[in-house]
Amino acid sequence: MKTFLDQNKPICTCTEDTCEGCEAGKNIVCHFNLKSLAGFLLVAIPSFIIAIIGMCLSHWLFLLPWIAAVLLFFGLVEIRVMCSHCPHYAEPETKTLKCWANYGSPKIWKYRPGPMGIWEKVVFFSGGAFIFLYPAVIIAFAGRFILLSIFFAYVLAGFYLMHRFMCRKCMNFACPLNAADERAKEEFKKRNPGT
Ligand code: SF4
Ligand code: SF4
Repeated sequence: MKTFLDQNKPICTCTEDTCEGCEAGKNIVCHFNLKSLAGFLLVAIPSFIIAIIGMCLSHWLFLLPWIAAVLLFFGLVEIRVMCSHCPHYAEPETKTLKCWANYGSPKIWKYRPGPMGIWEKVVFFSGGAFIFLYPAVIIAFAGRFILLSIFFAYVLAGFYLMHRFMCRKCMNFACPLNAADERAKEEFKKRNPGT
């Protein structure tokens, strides 16, 4: 079973024979590895840990619907509405995602190159908002405003770091949060015309 895609082999949507010296690969991340996965987890996990602590301080039962929502959203729903548009999703050799975010999520949907539809964006943003606002509301109702501020600080820092170091280099141009510049997109599209 593959842990990550072969770093030296162009991705399946790419028409090039080799990645060596590729201009597109300098600005867009086509291959992921343990370092990029660890970078994502370091940025994302602190706010989740604070959310869990905050909910447990009120009552551990508050965790159950949230954990169900997290598993459903990142394991199934987000994969359908957002990741199924990503060139990484198209890899025929893998049955689960091998990227920096959503690593290990199953690819049960079909690959859908092209932009996300309006309802997909609505589901994407609503699901994301629920994941972060649900614990915030519970922490706020318990009157733990210092913890709430720390939680929001980590959420905002996480979004900033993700935007700065990942969204700017992400190959999923369909995602509304993608921040790759036009030149980088053009270079990638030239080599991945069907995406
Ligand atoms: S665009 Fe193609 S050739 Fe360039 S780095 Fe990505 S997979 Fe490799
Ligand atoms: S959109 Fe991001 S998380 Fe989803 S498959 Fe592509 S790289 Fe992975």
